Amino acid sequence: MTKAQAKPLEIVKRNDLTPICCHCAKGLTEIYSRTKGTGFVEGKDVIYFCPHCMKVLGIGQSRMI
Ligand SMILES: [Zn+2]
Repeated sequence: MTKAQAKPLEIVKRNDLTPICCHCAKGLTEIYSRTKGTGFVEGKDVIYFCPHCMKVLGIGQSRMI
């Protein structure tokens, strides 16, 4: 019985690879983002979405720049 060695997760930067949309399987050379809400609360939640199918890829928190 082999004990799996706990290896730290390695993050490899690969700017030569293109991520693929999990919805329409098209290559993402760019990702659209927009902030939820308008006006004075703008810039809290950012929605990232696919420029091809407009489906949401993820929601993040943006620090007010
Ligand atoms: Zn898509």
